Amino acid sequence: MAGYQTLERDFTPEQEQFRDSARKIMEQEFAPQVMRWREQGFVDPEAYKVLGENGMLLMFADEEYGGLGLRDLRFVQVLQEETIRACGVGFFHNAHSMLCGPYLDHFATPEQKAKYLPKAISGETILAIAMTEPDTGSDLAAIRTRAEDKGNHWQLNGAKTFISNGITGGLFIVAAKTGDKRGQISLFLLEDGTEGFSRGKHLKKIGLHDQDTAELFFDNVILPKDALLGQEGQGFAHMGEMLAVERLMSAITSLAHAQTAFDITSEYILERRAFGKPIAAFQNTRLRMAEMRTELDAMQSFIDRCALLANEGRLTPDAAAAAKYATSELEGQVLDRCVQFHGGSGYMDEVRIARMYADARISRIYAGTSEIMLEIIGRGLGLGDPRPKRG
Ligand SMILES: Cc1cc2nc3c(=O)[nH]c(=O)nc-3n(C[C@H](O)[C@H](O)[C@H](O)COP(=O)(O)OP(=O)(O)OC[C@H]3O[C@@H](n4cnc5c(N)ncnc54)[C@H](O)[C@@H]3O)c2cc1C
Repeated sequence: MAGYQTLERDFTPEQEQFRDSARKIMEQEFAPQVMRWREQGFVDPEAYKVLGENGMLLMFADEEYGGLGLRDLRFVQVLQEETIRACGVGFFHNAHSMLCGPYLDHFATPEQKAKYLPKAISGETILAIAMTEPDTGSDLAAIRTRAEDKGNHWQLNGAKTFISNGITGGLFIVAAKTGDKRGQISLFLLEDGTEGFSRGKHLKKIGLHDQDTAELFFDNVILPKDALLGQEGQGFAHMGEMLAVERLMSAITSLAHAQTAFDITSEYILERRAFGKPIAAFQNTRLRMAEMRTELDAMQSFIDRCALLANEGRLTPDAAAAAKYATSELEGQVLDRCVQFHGGSGYMDEVRIARMYADARISRIYAGTSEIMLEIIGRGLGLGDPRPKRG
């Protein structure tokens, strides 16, 4: 907004330059496709290949697999911010790169890396992670999908639901029970086309229409022994190791979405007039906008600090949970206010803010609900039940 100067952020010149490239590609290549993607219910798989050609997928991955070895999270932060500004939150390349990709980076054997990373980095294979089941989400230890050790192979049976990139995904990281104890879970790599693996419904959602979300079924799927990702029985611990960055990514997304909504609304209130003056001229508008600006700036400093700490491996699970909780709640509040400033048009699907409002609602639910984040923070404070819960 004219005159108001927000705090400078800490990005290197290389990252600023990367922001320019990311902005250009998002605005020119992808933003014009978003409405079509929303109509068809998924992002063109080709879009991943374009990102791959531009070195924008799994940027952290080692050069020997085709990656750039860029482990500074601010690169993905910049990419995510520019994606959301131009395209919104439904283009889930961040889930591919930063939710699924790190599992391959951390837990895959050299053979698995050589097999899967190059195609994930080029965008030829879209990644997805399948944890949630029809009967359980927050309580991940209660999953029922089971992989049985049959000596020379694994046999997988069960069902997953609400899986992002579920339709377009080519490689799935599947969490399955491999023992009878609660939480005795292992992770498996499952390729699309494997016999016995099928997709159920392409699920209809109230928002995120450009993101494909699906049910998955495993009916006596035979997986080779080397489909195991990480250590047998350690799936729960492996997922725990990934959660801090996963939650930070979610926080970056929520905050960028809220910032974008604020920017859109800042323009709208100058154009829209009532009672002979712009909406912006009402004291209520001025105060609410100032309030949102303040909250967004304060949150940005917190999230930028979390990113720097994550770079050094020092982001605590508690702070990551707080980041996820606080940004997703703020996103919800900001989107609600922004719709209000748009009046009736803010309720029309053809107006971007309305679509953003529906898209934002999921942030408080997936990647661990707000209640689960508060549970984690509360336990960190030494209060209550010490049992581990899912993010
Ligand atoms: C669009 C979309 C995309 C998704 N993508 C993926 C994906 O790619 N992969 C994947 O595995 N999953 C995915 N999910 C699933 C998502 O992570 C879960 O929906 C989420 O973790 C919540 O689980 P649930 O739906 O089973 O809710 P439940 O666990 O049944 O929770 C219902 C309510 O109870 C509350 N609750 C539960 N336990 C507690 C507790 N201990 N204390 C207080 N309150 C509690 C919750 O906060 C919530 O309000 C996706 C979901 C959606 C909608």
